[in-house]
Amino acid sequence: MDKKTIKDIDLKGKKVLVRCDFNVPMDENQNITDNNRIVAALPTIKYLLEQDCKIILVSHLGRPKGEFKKEFSLEPVAKELSKLLNMEIIMAKDVIGEDATEKAKNLKPGEILLLENVRFHREETDNDPEFSKKLASMAEIFVNDAFGTAHRAHSSTTGVAEFLPAVSGFLIEKELKFLGNAINNPERPLIAILGGAKVSDKIAVIDNLIEKVDTLIIGGGMAYTFLKAQGYEIGNSICEIDKLDLAKQLMEKANQKNVKLLLPVDTKVGKEFKSDTESKTVKSTEIPSDWQGLDIGEKTIELYSEEIKKAKTVIWNGPLGVFEFDQFSVGTIAIAKILAQIDATTIIGGGDSAAAVKKAGLEDKITHVSTGGGASLEFLEGKKLPGIAALMDK
Ligand code: AMP
Repeated sequence: MDKKTIKDIDLKGKKVLVRCDFNVPMDENQNITDNNRIVAALPTIKYLLEQDCKIILVSHLGRPKGEFKKEFSLEPVAKELSKLLNMEIIMAKDVIGEDATEKAKNLKPGEILLLENVRFHREETDNDPEFSKKLASMAEIFVNDAFGTAHRAHSSTTGVAEFLPAVSGFLIEKELKFLGNAINNPERPLIAILGGAKVSDKIAVIDNLIEKVDTLIIGGGMAYTFLKAQGYEIGNSICEIDKLDLAKQLMEKANQKNVKLLLPVDTKVGKEFKSDTESKTVKSTEIPSDWQGLDIGEKTIELYSEEIKKAKTVIWNGPLGVFEFDQFSVGTIAIAKILAQIDATTIIGGGDSAAAVKKAGLEDKITHVSTGGGASLEFLEGKKLPGIAALMDK
């Protein structure tokens, strides 16, 4: 990585502002249902503790839209962090208010202060310079370790870097290493598996990946726009009519670049978009008029699996069917199982595919599951992530 990390500067005893991604899912009683993102922040925090730093953690949680809302408080995160680190976490009542600034001022080496949800201030998402300056004034060094928000130019991700020496933490370093190597220096064959609901969300990724991959496997709702573009009947399957030409162009581009592009050969269709709907498997080129494609079929699973087994590097983003409905999660789970078995570098781009791998209990068998759905997608699109661009060069 060409950006400085916490290993590249002297942090001994310094007061450090660390942007983490503690945007964890919670149930209605504010119990954390998945602590992955908190666990992913631990290596950086532990390193800073070893360096006797005075640590100020800042994060967002959900979308409180610029005002204090109890249900978006980071207090449950403080408790979880305290449990994981087996030490007290000092919780601030606000972000840049009297309580936070006072607690930050009195912080001793080896202590951790967690600020309240930074999105309780609208200035955060506005990337307001005054707000950034105030936040930065609490510390001497800025560490960004929030990969999940690295694609956002907000006060706590880029703004503070204008006022403090800024370096990355270990999580961002790790994410960039895996995603970057997969895209720029992969062991080949390199296969990308793209699913999810819409082509429109993934156009830029498909377009960029066609330049890089040996094989592109398409599944999920967006496959039907491609099938329709080839002139086939797709019944009531999800389709973006205004993207048919684009789908044709992408297929043409894949052809020109000698990229093998695979589409489903059979499809599990349902009568309605609901979990217990009547279902059957049909050829993808013959979807009956009042049925809709909701998962890839067995033959497609076999075809895709055989191809994936040849890969040395696999990048996967987006489920191959409506995996929230058990009977249409078969394709997504089967592909997750293949990824878990093969001798290759396997990378999951966060979001729904990460949830699917977790649901199948296969997380440990994947080389890297990204903590940032949106950020990893923008990285795969070839975009510069502002939260990383703002860090000091090596
Ligand atoms: P994305 O956020 O674009 O990765 O899309 C994920 C969503 O795509 C999930 O909620 C899936 O249920 C949905 N999805 C996958 N396959 C289909 C399909 N065949 N029809 C409708 N939605 C789908």
